[in-house]
Amino acid sequence: MPEEQQTRLIGWVETMICAYREQDRKLYPDSPIHEQAPTWKTRANGEKACSYCGSMEASEFYAFMERVIDDPSPYIRIELNDHRDKIYVTRPEVKNADDGPLYIRTVHLPLPPTEEDARYRAMFRAANRVSRGKFKRFMDEEFPKILEESRRSE
Ligand SMILES: [Zn+2]
Repeated sequence: MPEEQQTRLIGWVETMICAYREQDRKLYPDSPIHEQAPTWKTRANGEKACSYCGSMEASEFYAFMERVIDDPSPYIRIELNDHRDKIYVTRPEVKNADDGPLYIRTVHLPLPPTEEDARYRAMFRAANRVSRGKFKRFMDEEFPKILEESRRSE
């Protein structure tokens, strides 16, 4: 394969559509931010994030949902936002966006639905239910202790 064609193919594989970028291109067509196509950028923890909107990549989100379900830690959770367009991913080793992606935007989940979709939807419901339970336990059991310790240290 000629090198130019190879480069284009690699370029095509590595770039992806970010719906937030496409929306912003319509709103602000002259912005220099659109000169570069979005790519997946590797964060410090090794996970990929959309260079435009910071979203986690779908396959890493699926793997993370399994971790949420399997690991009882209250610090490993997901949380769907009120607009239902973003799912926060909480884990202790990621404190900011430099460490790793903080959320997945639902526009970065595969469309149209794949055969695997039903399985992932079931996994999402399970991870979401487990996460709510973890957060409730955190607020009922861990948070009062944290408050008490901070009062004592004042
Ligand atoms: Zn994006």
